[in-house]
Amino acid sequence: MKDMKIPYKTYLTESEMPKYWFNLNAFMPGKHPPFLNGVTGKPCTAEELEKVFCKECVKQELNFTDKEIEIPKGIRDFYRTFRPSPIVRAYFLEKFLDTPAEIYYKFEGNNTSGSHKLNSASAQAYYAKEQGLKFITTETGAGQWGTALSMAAAFYGLGLEVFMVKASAEQKPYRKEVIRTYGANVVPSPSETTEAGRKILKEFPDTGGSLGCAIAEAVEKAVKIPGCRYVLGSVLDHVLLHQTVIGLESKAVLDGYGVYPDLIVGCMGGGSNFGGLIAPYMADRLQGKCKTEFLGVEPASCPSVSRGKYAYDYCDSAKITPLAKMYTLGCGFMPPSEHAGGLRYHGMSPIISKLCNDGYIGVKAVKQTSVFKAALDFAKCEGILPAPESAHAIKAVADAAIECRETGEKKVILFGLTGTGYFDLAAYKQYNDGVMKDYVPTDKELEKGFSTIPRIR
Ligand SMILES: *Cc1c(COP(=O)(O)O)cnc(C)c1O
Repeated sequence: MKDMKIPYKTYLTESEMPKYWFNLNAFMPGKHPPFLNGVTGKPCTAEELEKVFCKECVKQELNFTDKEIEIPKGIRDFYRTFRPSPIVRAYFLEKFLDTPAEIYYKFEGNNTSGSHKLNSASAQAYYAKEQGLKFITTETGAGQWGTALSMAAAFYGLGLEVFMVKASAEQKPYRKEVIRTYGANVVPSPSETTEAGRKILKEFPDTGGSLGCAIAEAVEKAVKIPGCRYVLGSVLDHVLLHQTVIGLESKAVLDGYGVYPDLIVGCMGGGSNFGGLIAPYMADRLQGKCKTEFLGVEPASCPSVSRGKYAYDYCDSAKITPLAKMYTLGCGFMPPSEHAGGLRYHGMSPIISKLCNDGYIGVKAVKQTSVFKAALDFAKCEGILPAPESAHAIKAVADAAIECRETGEKKVILFGLTGTGYFDLAAYKQYNDGVMKDYVPTDKELEKGFSTIPRIR
């Protein structure tokens, strides 16, 4: 092992933890285009959004001016139960890769949900409670978001209904049980409890469901029940805002050691963890204070940015949400079911999309067998069993570190280790059994998805 001038693992103290989130929107080179109402084609008003989402979240969503937004004490108190999270200098991985690069990771998997999603779940449940709401609804695919929100709803004393994609609820019965243990009601979707669900069941009685259908059911419930709202786990600006605690804690620790990353890497599903990690560094870059490079990593099977279009599209496949200008494969894009990771969303955060389009963020698509190989290497070196999503970042970091071995460059690399993989052992089994396949959609297959992008400019 190298000299270890920097400790293996560093935590901020409780008193050093961030008291403000970092609003990247106030630093952007021009606002990203607004959400559009899918029916009128006009920019969404706060009143329209408040019918679906909590008031305070809508306020944050539309805030392009305040550089910092205070984290209420009620949220900071809950953060104490699972934060701060550690920054780890990956000495053992560096040694394994035989690289002159310095590698750091921010580990967000140390809570029962097993991912960073609790950072925003706590905030959104808190604001719902403050608004006097009694219930919230959401959807979950892989299950991390549903788990995180069930923990937050339990903490703040809110009722929660989670529409869980039926196939996922059946494949991951233990995920479902964790959510129920925290007191939330899990409804396999499509269900008989909503119009959207009944309509789909009538047409496709044997369907395993989809994220788009689960969103449609959750939104329908939220709008119909008084004192109820819908909450979303990624993509939206206010979710990315809540995730900036990741970047703020990272920067506070690394600044203390005089370390400034040359390259920051993160996996991208809807873009919230990556956006949260890079936010304070990206602001420096936008102000010309650093030359840090940013690399978002996505699955080759669902290449939203690397092969998608920058266009207005619906955030869900049922086309009931507003339209966002983002990189998209088309709201009707169906990712292959054999893909193991949870990064299957067709779109991307409007903030991340704009930064990609403006050339501030690079994107790399990686194949899942190479991702799992990197995950196993990482687990053996650093001990943590990574979530398949997180392992996309690990794969790209390993590639960059090996490049440094060849060039001799002592790059400082920071990446987000978003979660743990204990509920993904079916995917690990596939890999260990040697039966995992790589799937890369053909241009023709992507065209099918693109044809579902609405014609709005
Ligand atoms: C949900 C999830 C992601 C992807 O979501 P983003 O919004 O892109 O951050 C990544 N890693 C884990 C472990 C997740 O649960």
